Amino acid sequence: MTALPAPRVPLADGRSIPQLGFGTYKVPADATADLVVEALRIGYRHVDTATLYGNEAEVGDGIRRSGLDRDDVFVTTKVWNDDHGFDEALRAFDASAARLGLDEVDLYLIHWPIPSRDRYVDTWRALVRLREEGRARSIGVSNFSPAHIERIAEATGVWPVIDQVELHPRFPQRDLQRWNDAHGIVTEAWAPLARGGLLDDPALAEIARRHGRTPAQVVIRWHLDRGLVLFPKSTSAARLRENADVFDFSLDDADRAVIARLETGERTGRDPDLD
Ligand code: NAP
Repeated sequence: MTALPAPRVPLADGRSIPQLGFGTYKVPADATADLVVEALRIGYRHVDTATLYGNEAEVGDGIRRSGLDRDDVFVTTKVWNDDHGFDEALRAFDASAARLGLDEVDLYLIHWPIPSRDRYVDTWRALVRLREEGRARSIGVSNFSPAHIERIAEATGVWPVIDQVELHPRFPQRDLQRWNDAHGIVTEAWAPLARGGLLDDPALAEIARRHGRTPAQVVIRWHLDRGLVLFPKSTSAARLRENADVFDFSLDDADRAVIARLETGERTGRDPDLD
């Protein structure tokens, strides 16, 4: 296996983020610390969590138990929908940081814009404050469309450095990635494996067979080649290793053409504009 660490992707604020991480949505709290220790042992240096996931404390435990220096691990967490608003988001950050046992998080995101509540501009003002204070080293958004991003940027003069959105071969979000690129925003792909739903596709199986890889590895390579940041979730140490063993093969144009035909426009999650 080719060793991690993954390459780092530069952010517009001068910092950088490991391109491949470990996503922890639906990782049960009682399994999280051990899996974080294992992921860091394998060589992952980036963990994605959120208040919603109910495992921030265990992510923090895992990082401490790994014995790595705090600054060697990139930690993302997110402000949940119930905590929109300036004061609410500041309090939510304090609570997340306390659960993580960290003074600073590497990346703090607004989890969803929830346009029907229309409070995300105030929430963003709180994130700007947290970045000015250095408690959130970088700030960004999740599930934001260009219109939402333009609005927060116009209101504050501060652009997010990351937009974390659902993205996989069935729902490749090429227009959004192009727009983000043009505005200096790195696109992160959530549900990069379409939550596992994509992996029994026969066309992927054939590509995987030709490369002596697994379908998950092929999909992860596709994301990396597109310059996306991703953090596939797994509760299996073997699959965490498999998902990281992607740095010594490449897809060709024919592979990419086959993968392009998997696009159906289907999401696994909600359409953020409808909330
Ligand atoms: P995902 O990473 O696309 O897929 C996870 C599923 O794939 C799990 O069922 C996992 O099963 C399976 N899997 C993982 N590696 C595999 C492999 N090598 N072979 C076969 N199956 C494999 O889905 P996700 O967890 O929804 O997304 C990834 C991360 O994105 C989340 O964990 C979270 O950090 C973030 N996220 C963010 C948002 C947002 O709104 N911002 C929304 C959703 C997710 P096992 O666990 O059994 O291995």
